[in-house]
Amino acid sequence: MLDPSLETALNEQLHRELESEYLYLSIAGAMEHAGFPGFARWMRGQAAEEHGHAMRFFDFICDRGGRVRLGALAEPPSEFGQPLAAFERALEHERSITAAIVDLYERADRPTRAFLDWFLTEQVEEEKSVGQIVDALRLAGDSGPALLLLDRELGARSPVEGADEG
Ligand code: MG
Repeated sequence: MLDPSLETALNEQLHRELESEYLYLSIAGAMEHAGFPGFARWMRGQAAEEHGHAMRFFDFICDRGGRVRLGALAEPPSEFGQPLAAFERALEHERSITAAIVDLYERADRPTRAFLDWFLTEQVEEEKSVGQIVDALRLAGDSGPALLLLDRELGARSPVEGADEG
């Protein structure tokens, strides 16, 4: 049985994962509008992955006999500026998610810690992949051809792939 305070903390993390999905969907919309379909596609894949993360928490809470409680999602920003700024925002967001999961881990019982191990590994991967894109965008700077090339490269990611990974 889940301790009530742990149940609340797990629901809070479920909420954060859904907010991540919402943020990345918003970035995807902005990138699509700015003429970067590849960056948009990558962010859609990321959003699908975050939905998968949220559902892992959903299932875990249910499996432990807890109650899922969904709160209202805050409206994400809709303007992100250049792709670099959008991906920097995503990196900053992933770092805050990592900190939240580490904090949750400290308060968790042993079964929850075993469950969270997957997320700790996943966060290393998330920060690495977004960080690499931020680095590449910094190198590209204002170069149109470089941005076009990166957009095509990231567009090779399938949104469905993200959902499977999550
Ligand atoms: Mg996540």
